[in-house]
Amino acid sequence: MKPPPFEYHKPTTISKLLELLEAHSHDARILAGGQSLMPSMNFRLSRPEHVIDINLIEELNQLNVRNNKLVVGALTRHATFESPVIDDPLGSLLATVCQHLAHWPIRVRGTFAGSLAHADPAAEWCLLAVALDADIIIRSSQGERAVKASEFFKGGFQTALTPNEVIVEVHLPLLGENARYGFMEISRRTGDFALAMVLSIMWLDSQHQIERASVAVGGVQSYPIRVFAAEENLANAAPSKDLFEVTSEIVAQSVNPMEDIHGDSEFRRDLARTLTFRSLERTLDQ
Ligand SMILES: Cc1cc2nc3c(=O)[nH]c(=O)nc-3n(C[C@H](O)[C@H](O)[C@H](O)COP(=O)(O)OP(=O)(O)OC[C@H]3O[C@@H](n4cnc5c(N)ncnc54)[C@H](O)[C@@H]3O)c2cc1C
Repeated sequence: MKPPPFEYHKPTTISKLLELLEAHSHDARILAGGQSLMPSMNFRLSRPEHVIDINLIEELNQLNVRNNKLVVGALTRHATFESPVIDDPLGSLLATVCQHLAHWPIRVRGTFAGSLAHADPAAEWCLLAVALDADIIIRSSQGERAVKASEFFKGGFQTALTPNEVIVEVHLPLLGENARYGFMEISRRTGDFALAMVLSIMWLDSQHQIERASVAVGGVQSYPIRVFAAEENLANAAPSKDLFEVTSEIVAQSVNPMEDIHGDSEFRRDLARTLTFRSLERTLDQ
């Protein structure tokens, strides 16, 4: 199946990209890995008149550490994270999550930033960005702004991006050596989008008590959320099965699950409960 006709642009600098976005914003779409845009064009779900390919913009192709944050440039592919990219636990967390994301050919082309921009409710990187409250660095011809992941997702496939903007970088905070994480996902088949997923991260003190925690749920509502009541329940407590059971129940009662052909809301609530418990248990494996 072929997409509808469009004009193809291939800028090699960010300034040229911003110029093109300004000129065509309402009729244009950025092409990064193309793993979501091209299928949606082929299915006629989107019909941009201008497609702006960013793959030749070398400035967007970076991955480095700055100010205790991993800076993920807009052209960083999913597959980059298959092996830990950094010694901090963030490296192995990214590698763990990456295994669940689609299939190898998609991981080789698709980009981390493209996934955030696309904002599928069941996208793994969106969940991770929310769990870490990543900074999403956005540029337009008017300038640059940083948006927290907690403010970025507005609904299923809806974000804080305006049509003339591009994500240039995503900043992920390093976790530090006292961090423990557990990621659990359930999907019908390997590589399918998640029916539900939970990422739990705990920071332990020297007595092995939980100093603070982040508990984020994806695939259950129209965009990933953190469950602050669950995090408060974990803070200053000692990890235990009872604590994890109570926390899982808090998560189950806090979510407002969506319904679709893959499952009704009670099914997803149940998944949120079970996956939270298992993800918390996983934190103890490290
Ligand atoms: C069969 C299949 C299975 C998949 N399974 C999964 C899965 O399990 N989990 C998962 O998370 N994803 C899955 N995906 C989607 C895949 O991860 C995509 O790569 C990702 O959603 C989009 O990244 P991309 O770079 O390909 O973006 P593109 O397809 O190029 O673009 C997607 C959208 O984001 C916009 N965009 C891209 N980059 C930027 C930017 N830097 N700034 C602003 N806007 C931008 C585009 O204009 C477009 O609207 C699957 C895809 C397929 C085809």
